[in-house]
Amino acid sequence: MTSFNEFGLAELINRALADEKYVTPTPIQAQTIPIAAQGRDVIGIAQTGTGKTAAFALPILNHLFNKRQRPSQKSCRVLVLSPTRELSGQIADSFKAYGRHIRPLEIALAIGGVPINRQIRALSRGAEVLVATPGRLLDLVNSRALWLDQVEVLVLDEADRMLDMGFIHDIKKIVAMLPKSRQTLFFSATMPQEITRLADAMLRDPVRVAVTPQASTADRIDQRVILTEKASKPSLLVEVLKTEKTDRVLVFTRTKHGADKVVRGLQKAGHAAEAIHGNKSQNQRERVLAAFRDGKLRTLIATDIAARGIDVDGVSHVVNYDLPNIPESYIHRIGRTARAGAEGVAISFCDNEERAYLRDIERLIRITIPATDRRTGKPPAHPAPHHAANRKNGRPYHRGKHQPRPQNGSHGHHNARPQSQHAEQGKGEPNGLGNVTFLHRSGEPRRNAGHRPR
Ligand code: AMP
Repeated sequence: MTSFNEFGLAELINRALADEKYVTPTPIQAQTIPIAAQGRDVIGIAQTGTGKTAAFALPILNHLFNKRQRPSQKSCRVLVLSPTRELSGQIADSFKAYGRHIRPLEIALAIGGVPINRQIRALSRGAEVLVATPGRLLDLVNSRALWLDQVEVLVLDEADRMLDMGFIHDIKKIVAMLPKSRQTLFFSATMPQEITRLADAMLRDPVRVAVTPQASTADRIDQRVILTEKASKPSLLVEVLKTEKTDRVLVFTRTKHGADKVVRGLQKAGHAAEAIHGNKSQNQRERVLAAFRDGKLRTLIATDIAARGIDVDGVSHVVNYDLPNIPESYIHRIGRTARAGAEGVAISFCDNEERAYLRDIERLIRITIPATDRRTGKPPAHPAPHHAANRKNGRPYHRGKHQPRPQNGSHGHHNARPQSQHAEQGKGEPNGLGNVTFLHRSGEPRRNAGHRPR
């Protein structure tokens, strides 16, 4: 598919896509939209940044348009579950943007961290689409402000992140309340075993669509590593911000405390910066994100979870102030730049204690990231080719010589993953640029209750 017109979507939707200046469908859109528009269940293996929101939102809007029907009170026709407040907000905004010419169309948002009463009032009339985080959704169901027996389409977005964040039981509870005869669109960046089992239990004869954003995204990203002493990181960041031609910079730290410390350091050096993480109120987070999006704030410091839902085009640089201990997070992080076809730069600071993380990342992405050794304060010896850049004083540079090398996935203490993180993650991921694989799988019997509790 080279044009959105070929999908046969309603004219009002095509008009909204033209408003958005979308011309060509992304691979996940090209493969998902025709299948989802037929009412089939879909497993989409795709990350944020691939255009997956439109991949599910467009066929859903088309369905709502073709089957115009007032939603019942206290219920929704489409339920979208997403792991974070930010991502939920962005999904709701995308539905509003793509559905802007379809009227009336009620898009509701149910997320934690804000008072529940407004959400209860909004749902009292019913909504065509409800985008929700699992915890708040269950609160609404438990307080009898919402019934799930009218759901025609369920979207589960970022299923692997739901697992990481401990939402899997909530998801199972919610799915058990949905009607059996529904369409389910299931998206995950990776497919560890527990996610495969969840998908098998939830989906009926799904079509599997996989795109590999990391290859295509990573290709457009200029990735670099700077080896440094831990103590030099604050001044190194100031230097990077001064010397690089930056537009919007997203700086990642491992901890919330670390994020605040970086902000203080930058502010001291006269550089405006703000942090977004789980300790900030929803209002603060929204204000900071809006400033970043509008270009009023050019440097944003974030932790992995807080950044999960950040969808800002035009991030020119991602700086990994700390390397993530989960290698897949590196892919998620750098995917924040080079979005929607743009180019981007990802610079990672790596201190001695982080060498094992770097090794795991390089193993996962299957490239050696060009490295500059700044521990001696020397300028880059070999700036260009990948392998040459990993040499020091003309000799091959052995990373982590003094660090125990993790053996076949049995990681040292640096590498401790959260319990829920599966060893399978990252392995077995499809290869190739924007590859798309179809796989018809036979559905297993589902075990939904589907009763409306009265
Ligand atoms: P997503 O993966 O859904 O978070 O989308 C990533 C970014 O790509 C968002 O900023 C979208 O607005 C943008 N986008 C999605 N689909 C297209 C498209 N077909 N053409 C251009 N931009 C797109």
